[in-house]
Amino acid sequence: MPQTLDQQKMQTRNLIGGKWIDADSGDEFAVLDPATDEHIASVPRCGTAETRRAIDAAAEAFKPWSARPAVERYRMLRSLADAMMRDQDRLARLMTSEQGKPLAEAKGEVAYAASFIEWAAEEAKRVYGETVPASFADKRILVLRQPIGVTACITPWNFPLAMITRKLGPALAAGNTMVVKPAEDTPLSAIALGELAVEAGVPAGVVNIVTGEAKAIGEELLDNPKVRKLSFTGSTPVGKLLLQKSAKNLTKLSLELGGHAPFLVFDDADVDAAVKGAIASKYRNMGQTCVCANRFYVQDGIYDAFAGKLSEQVKTMKIGRGLDDGVQVGPLINDDAVEKVQRHVDDAVQHGAKVLTGGALAKVDGLTNRFYEPTVIDGFTPEMLINHEETFGPVAPLRRFKSEEQAIEWANDSIYGLAAYFYTRDASRLMRVAEQLEYGIVGANDGAPSTVQAPFGGVKESGFGREGGKYVMDEYTEIKYVSWQL
Ligand code: NAP
Repeated sequence: MPQTLDQQKMQTRNLIGGKWIDADSGDEFAVLDPATDEHIASVPRCGTAETRRAIDAAAEAFKPWSARPAVERYRMLRSLADAMMRDQDRLARLMTSEQGKPLAEAKGEVAYAASFIEWAAEEAKRVYGETVPASFADKRILVLRQPIGVTACITPWNFPLAMITRKLGPALAAGNTMVVKPAEDTPLSAIALGELAVEAGVPAGVVNIVTGEAKAIGEELLDNPKVRKLSFTGSTPVGKLLLQKSAKNLTKLSLELGGHAPFLVFDDADVDAAVKGAIASKYRNMGQTCVCANRFYVQDGIYDAFAGKLSEQVKTMKIGRGLDDGVQVGPLINDDAVEKVQRHVDDAVQHGAKVLTGGALAKVDGLTNRFYEPTVIDGFTPEMLINHEETFGPVAPLRRFKSEEQAIEWANDSIYGLAAYFYTRDASRLMRVAEQLEYGIVGANDGAPSTVQAPFGGVKESGFGREGGKYVMDEYTEIKYVSWQL
């Protein structure tokens, strides 16, 4: 048990209808620190019955919650965002303990997560309708925006708070209620958020949190006609499964799925800026983000300078337990993740690529075998696994290109379409390339484009729907029109 977490005060139950509950069966599962395998807490292993009760509680809470003036929802959500920032250190320590990311990154995520609640709180006051000119003098056409009803979300472990608040904030702001199902590896951050929502005065049943059997919970969420919307962030295979199941009740879906981001560096780029952007994009969260660069295409004239500088800087990154000072690279989430990263590196080497730095497990005294050296690989080719599978680890494979057309063709040669990056100092090229990349998010001379003000989401097999920015309210409201005969 890490000294930094106060086990006595930590809530570990599920939140249903304003009550903290155990699983009906009493079953629990353990949450472990991936850096040490220390047992942090056990949480309820819930399933169908508890999920149904959470949906019922959300359904009961919906009418009074949606009937409140928007400004009241604003105040509660604003209090929630403030409480998250007040508890930023505590939430960050909890997140690092269950997820592994360096503490500085966890603090950053808490602020990022709170920003979604704050942004949505503000938007609650601006859910505007419209009047439309009618064809007849005695008719009026009104367009109303209304909440959808009971909503749900299923979220991954790589951003244990932000992936929830990106959905919960706008859902509640618009007047919906929500059932949250966090990832098995990181349920404690979600439960801590639930506690703060209760403290902020969010009424019983408006937020419900259920941990446990993913398949059973997911099935109930899509089988139950009371749930009108599900927002999912996670892998493409699970997203496709949920899409099929949503056919039963035609449940609305937002799908934020996998990515395989290309990172292009043109001859005319500022090489230092490109290296800085590459490190931000590739090695944050140990390479476990959906928008992580997974393929680096570097033009001939700048290739050696970029490869050399990137390798040099990557070698200096401090590996260790995320709670320790100055650590930049923590553990991967679990043993399967380590195995996948090693498989991608081995496969690349077998097919002729060369490891410039890293390429192996990092041994850190007294810690688990889940630490992987930040890696740079020279000369990846299309037949390698790393060219088309999400690596989800700290590995940057590089490939030379000759022309802009070639770089764009290679960059777009993917089933995914979430994020892409490129570096150039030519303004015409900047616009040309940005327009041609088939991705929902483009970082132009920017390795860290994610922000609350912008619409986040992908195309192709990276899913559909947008979260963030003013667009997010579209995902959590229905449009109704009233044709009024005077
Ligand atoms: P995952 O296996 O798809 O899991 C995501 C969530 O789905 C977890 O809560 C998981 O529960 C749940 N789940 C698993 N199987 C399910 C089923 N049959 N029915 C219902 N729910 C199910 O993905 P992951 O490995 O945790 O997360 C990494 C993936 O998420 C990567 O592909 C990454 O690119 C993607 N991601 C995308 C975005 C984006 O915004 N586009 C952001 C972050 C991550 P358990 O944990 O309990 O199994």
